[in-house]
Amino acid sequence: MKYIYADHAATTAISEEAKLEMMDCMDRFYGNPSSLHTPGQEAAEMLAECRETVAGLMNADPKEIYFTAGGSEADNQALLTAAKQGEKKGKRHIVSTAFEHHAVLHSLNRLEREGFEITLLPVYGDGLVRPADVAAAIREDTACVSVMYANNEIGTVQPIREIGEICRERGVLFHVDAVQAAGRLLIDVEDMKIDLLAISAHKFNGPRGIGALYCRKGIRLVNLIEGGAQERGKRAGTENLPAIAGMATAFAAAWEKHKAANEKTAAMRDQLIAGLEAIPHSRLNGDREKRLPGIVNFCFEGIEGESLLLHLDARGIAASSGSACTSGSLDPSHVLLALGLPHEVAHGSLRLSIGEENTPEEMDYIIRNVTEVVSYLRDMSPVWEELETGEKPHLL
Ligand SMILES: *Cc1c(COP(=O)(O)O)cnc(C)c1O
Repeated sequence: MKYIYADHAATTAISEEAKLEMMDCMDRFYGNPSSLHTPGQEAAEMLAECRETVAGLMNADPKEIYFTAGGSEADNQALLTAAKQGEKKGKRHIVSTAFEHHAVLHSLNRLEREGFEITLLPVYGDGLVRPADVAAAIREDTACVSVMYANNEIGTVQPIREIGEICRERGVLFHVDAVQAAGRLLIDVEDMKIDLLAISAHKFNGPRGIGALYCRKGIRLVNLIEGGAQERGKRAGTENLPAIAGMATAFAAAWEKHKAANEKTAAMRDQLIAGLEAIPHSRLNGDREKRLPGIVNFCFEGIEGESLLLHLDARGIAASSGSACTSGSLDPSHVLLALGLPHEVAHGSLRLSIGEENTPEEMDYIIRNVTEVVSYLRDMSPVWEELETGEKPHLL
């Protein structure tokens, strides 16, 4: 059976060009970039080239780019850095949002245990942060604001430029988790007044375990890993040059074709939305317009998201109920709860995240099968029966 992969927000398959670049890099640049001999220096030059590519794609200076082992590490390092920088001036308050990725939320939990005060802004029913809320939450002792560019579960895109302006004006550091946006939406750290920003290669058809942290000049980055002088002394360990080269290639390739890819993907996304909205007692989660081209998230009343996923898997469709990090647990997604959905509704969620290699025919297949499986699961569900007999009111 041909499998339909509709879980691009969890990870993407590596592109042919990134894979070839990595293999070439392993063959040609085997030296350690810290070595003084020629193979080492050739590797160092390759590393510098990759840094320039990544920096250029976000309008940063290469000196402001630090390679990390992925988006989670970059988020951790960014928040620790912002917190420590604020602490030096007696600022121990951080503003973020209720629907951030756990790499941000759990970093904030740690800082809270260390005595920082955290304010999590609401994201309302549409999954959008309000710049006015950010402005109102900033205090004299606010060290940093952290808002994700695009949400990984519902796909909503946040007003990053407006929030950046507010932060700069109020003298507060601004961190952006841009993992879902990179390669799809414009990142311009100057224009958007961003101080710290995280990306991850495997979300844009690059390899796993490699990411980058943009850290504006003048901010003292705090080390997570001590050791050698790699990454300007801020991230020790011999550089994973093949992965870095794979990321640079994938990032450049994604940006090069982003317009056409986004257009194609958005058309399939809208096809999915129209098809799934025809299912009674369903709801599209997150704002209809301000969303990534590839992410669709629905709730279906009266069913369990996990059962839906298993049935779809058996029918050759790879989907998700939310974040890959929380599926496997039976707690409803913190993102859907942040939208104000009741627990019983949040449980029946489905995330379909598509890429340009998907086809409109696959969307038709997905719509048909989701419709059938939802109806099948509802027929067996005691909860659905209560809703249908009027014993319980419909929430959707
Ligand atoms: C995937 C993801 C991360 C984590 O990136 P890894 O490279 O897997 O550590 C962080 N934030 C968002 C929004 C993500 O989608």
